[in-house]
Amino acid sequence: MTKKANFAFGPGVVVRGVVFRENRWFVWADGAGARSCPECGGASASRHSWHVRRLHDLPIQGAPVVLELRSGRWRCLNERCARKTFVERLTTASPFARKTRRVSDLVRLFGHAAGGRTSEKLLARLAMPVSDNAILRQLKRHSYERRDGAPLRAIAIDDWSWRKGFNYGTIVDLERRIVADVLETRSAKETAEWLKQHAEIVVVSRDRCGRCAQGVRQGAPQARQVADRFHLPAELARKHERHMTRISRFAGRPKLPAVPGDRQAPLRGERGLR
Ligand SMILES: [Zn+2]
Repeated sequence: MTKKANFAFGPGVVVRGVVFRENRWFVWADGAGARSCPECGGASASRHSWHVRRLHDLPIQGAPVVLELRSGRWRCLNERCARKTFVERLTTASPFARKTRRVSDLVRLFGHAAGGRTSEKLLARLAMPVSDNAILRQLKRHSYERRDGAPLRAIAIDDWSWRKGFNYGTIVDLERRIVADVLETRSAKETAEWLKQHAEIVVVSRDRCGRCAQGVRQGAPQARQVADRFHLPAELARKHERHMTRISRFAGRPKLPAVPGDRQAPLRGERGLR
């Protein structure tokens, strides 16, 4: 089955054909993006050759979509320019990306919300197969793009579950409220090495993890360490629960006689005891 159709792949992308094969939709399209040299900015109308990319796009009817996008490689007509040819730029996908921009955005959102391995399973179920390593790369690339070269002054270090049972470090820029980086391990050594590259940091917000504190002391001794505000009320609630449980025990909480066959419900707050 082959037919021509209109798809919303973004401006400048014209679909030439669609076929459903091997449980996937294959879409052939031509791109007509910006034909100006990225080096000197000169426009060109002299095509050198075609450049073909394979991109994963949003699924159709639960089946993965592979977009085979053909775009022109053009000659730079400026004799003084160091670049001889260039590929026209399209808004559909970033240069060298293997996914369309909208799929990359979804991958990043899933990665932030659910971590690597869980996102890999969910995205596969949604017909957008991506490996957990690709999800991590997407997160890191996005954080670098948004940093915009601005210095980091106040950061937070927190856990982020990459795989079930494995927690890794997320560095959050507190001033811009964006993820600044993702550390693949959360050891004191790796934290310290990352911090040494950012001598401009003056405040580090963290949880009560000892390895994290050690890493900050080694890597950013100039920075002031402060408690993450999420952990302050959490710790207060835990202490309060333990205290109230202790008072309740001393006061002698009245118990109803057990009914045969009923399971005795645990006292509220028992799990706070050690
Ligand atoms: Zn040029």
